[in-house]
Amino acid sequence: MYPFAERVSTLESEGAYAVLARSQALEAQGRKILHLEIGQPDFATPAHVSAAAVQAIQAGQTRYNPPAGVPALRALIAKEAGRAHGLEFLPAQVVIGPGAKPGLFFPTLALVQAGDEVIYPDPGFPTYKAMIAIAGGVPVPVPLREASGFSFDLQAFDRAVSKRTRLIVLNSPANPTGGVIPLADLQHIAAKAQEVGAWVLSDEIYGRLAYDGNQVPSIASLPGMMERCIIVDGFSKTYAMTGWRLGYTIMPETLATRVELLLTHSVGCTATFTQFAGIEAIEGPQDQVDEMVAEYQRRRDHIVAGLNAIPGVSCLSPQGAFYVFPNVKSFGKSSSEIARRLLDEAGVATLAGTDFGPYGEGYLRLCYATSLETIDGALEKMGTFFRSLAK
Ligand code: PLP
Repeated sequence: MYPFAERVSTLESEGAYAVLARSQALEAQGRKILHLEIGQPDFATPAHVSAAAVQAIQAGQTRYNPPAGVPALRALIAKEAGRAHGLEFLPAQVVIGPGAKPGLFFPTLALVQAGDEVIYPDPGFPTYKAMIAIAGGVPVPVPLREASGFSFDLQAFDRAVSKRTRLIVLNSPANPTGGVIPLADLQHIAAKAQEVGAWVLSDEIYGRLAYDGNQVPSIASLPGMMERCIIVDGFSKTYAMTGWRLGYTIMPETLATRVELLLTHSVGCTATFTQFAGIEAIEGPQDQVDEMVAEYQRRRDHIVAGLNAIPGVSCLSPQGAFYVFPNVKSFGKSSSEIARRLLDEAGVATLAGTDFGPYGEGYLRLCYATSLETIDGALEKMGTFFRSLAK
């Protein structure tokens, strides 16, 4: 055995990558696979945003920029995010990174010492557990409950919080459930965080993908919270820019300077011309974002109705993001067996709820950021599959 460092010994891949690899292997054998596993928009990046990047390259914006990002983009994000949160942010509080993921990882590295406890949602985005482990922290998963729209089980949350809690990770709207944490729950969580002196990392990457005309409340906007909050957001989901690698964090300035140093010594800086695309994405017309959100809502309604029409499957209508998390407990089989057989026998690629933690048992995650045609094809195949499974 190679003497690998202990910090990487528990690392696992994201389920979505493993399923994508398996689907592609089946496709190479000539099988037709309907893809509902990968969480990325099927839309193209708005053309005016891509054009801004091309212009930036042609204008020579191809050199290093400051580790925390291009000053004009930091200032713009401070202004826009400040407006959205009803707060005033300084540009020095904003740190740009290559995607939202570094915005999860580096503040965690800057805050969490060996043995510190970190609360995070289960089922939840797999990077949370990974970053806590790498920082040497103790991961403390708190279950989300279907009965409360996949918000935290607040009783379990209260039992999990202690003086040892250094950081609380929230994600609303959430991957993998699409759940939105209601304001009353955020107030409860904020009070606890203040009581024990914990930081809160609020992953708001799906914040603009909210349905039925609702706005998603942010814990950072609650009185006194921004002094202990890190807001994580980015361009991947809102502007269909997953491959551009552009995201940002907003936090108290003292922490921002530490995160900036971690960026300095790891990635150096985020690609310069992509940040000019980011400026255009924020400053330019927003109608394509509105159109994408309207289309996701249409697809959500369609897939939720289709899943609920399958005997034995029940599915909440999520308030945000582009995932549904149907309950398949009635079939008495594990999520991983159902997901595997759906792929092998029906040619539908989904993820097991347990790819997002043990409390995901009994659920599947389906991403509906794909065409209605693909969704319809998948619903038909899933209907046949589940009817045969129920026999
Ligand atoms: N946070 C959540 C909850 C996500 O689902 C994702 C991507 O799937 C990310 C963060 C990462 O975003 P990015 O691709 O901008 O790094």
